[in-house]
Amino acid sequence: MSKIPYRTYLPEDKLPKAWYNVRADMPEQHDPYLNPATLKPVTMDDLLPIFCEELCRQEVNTTDRFIEIPDEVLSFYRVYRPSPLIRAYNLEKELKTPAKIYYKFEGNNTSGSHKLNSAAAQVYYAKKQGVTNLTTETGAGQWGTALAMAASYFKIPLTVYMVKVSAQQKPYRKAIMETYGAKVVPSPSDTTESGRAILAKDPGSTGSLGCAISEAIEVAVNTPNSRYVLGSVLDQVLLHQAIIGSEAKAAMDMLGEYPDIIIGCAGGGSNFGGIMSEYMGDKLKGRGNPYFIAVEPASCPSMTRGKYAYDFCDTGKTTPLAKMYTLGCEFIPSSIHAGGLRYHGMSPTVSKLYHDGFVDEARAVRQSDVFKAAALFSKIETILPAPESAHAICAAIDEAVKCRESGESKTILFNLTGTGYFDMAAYMNYNEGKLEDYIPTDEELQKGFDSLPKID
Ligand SMILES: *Cc1c(COP(=O)(O)O)cnc(C)c1O
Repeated sequence: MSKIPYRTYLPEDKLPKAWYNVRADMPEQHDPYLNPATLKPVTMDDLLPIFCEELCRQEVNTTDRFIEIPDEVLSFYRVYRPSPLIRAYNLEKELKTPAKIYYKFEGNNTSGSHKLNSAAAQVYYAKKQGVTNLTTETGAGQWGTALAMAASYFKIPLTVYMVKVSAQQKPYRKAIMETYGAKVVPSPSDTTESGRAILAKDPGSTGSLGCAISEAIEVAVNTPNSRYVLGSVLDQVLLHQAIIGSEAKAAMDMLGEYPDIIIGCAGGGSNFGGIMSEYMGDKLKGRGNPYFIAVEPASCPSMTRGKYAYDFCDTGKTTPLAKMYTLGCEFIPSSIHAGGLRYHGMSPTVSKLYHDGFVDEARAVRQSDVFKAAALFSKIETILPAPESAHAICAAIDEAVKCRESGESKTILFNLTGTGYFDMAAYMNYNEGKLEDYIPTDEELQKGFDSLPKID
């Protein structure tokens, strides 16, 4: 057999034409979203004013195993997909491991992350429905950038509420969004009631994701023909991200490879849901048994130390309640933490799969180890990873080192979600030895749990 290449790109005729919907193969579904006012399950009618119709249908679709990708979205995907599946020969050699390491690289587009996969789909359905204005929030800026790219391609005006401190610290992120034609408003702003209320209390407020969400939703609800869009957590986002795993599996199949271990970093759960997709389907159907590891920061440990409970999806307590692993919607990770993945909760589907034992392990890693892994990876594999992605790298390296010690030749697949060009402040701190680890105490976590809505 000829040697497996460093990079594998799927040929045109093998590109996925449908998104795989893992819920169709799950023995049990996650608990329904609840309306926080009535505590009744959320219905299609509750969702329709917030999300586009087709996306609402996808959100509640637990039966169709495959959902066709519209041609217009496929043509957009064609420009930057398939993403390469890379055999990390150089890293294997560096680690002296008998393990085979593969990674799917999702940073090959201007937004620098996998988020474009769902942004393209969400904006397309908005356009098709005749929506004329979109709003969203962005923290670090990846989601806002991805959405700005998709909104300019499908020609819908977009307003991004960007956490003020982020807008100040990452002026180039803001500039990219503006170059694609998006309007970027540092949040809190004086353009909304919620923003003005916060500024009245604290004129120097540097903002929070919760506040930016409240502003974005307020504008969407008060502007005719406007919708709000979200970049992670929801089932529709997991569905779109399944393209990552479907491509990875088709490429691995071509090479005659099957992963023993599948690793993804987990913030809201969308890229982990994406890389697992059809492999999780195999596991649910008893056709394969890969070991799934979701990796999170020790400073924001929703799966490893959180509660499986109903909670709000946002800090501002405006969204429906979701049953998920959560630290409590008022939990805010320490500002010492620079590695992203700061979300308090976790995708309800990923949570359910973990709760039921199909996701085998959640692992919390310290940021000092994460940046060490990132620095090593960038030197050996040439790609400068996003700190978020480096959580997965860190776990993959640990697994490869275990193989060196045990002599087992396992096949490891991980998702490299993006590049870190806009995270250089964190890298600078790491280079200067200034990056500290922060691990919340049980007492600190308890404060977050105290903010959980009282249900059951
Ligand atoms: C947003 C983001 C993540 C985390 O989000 P998920 O929904 O958990 O995938 C991970 N990596 C990068 C590069 C991101 O931009």
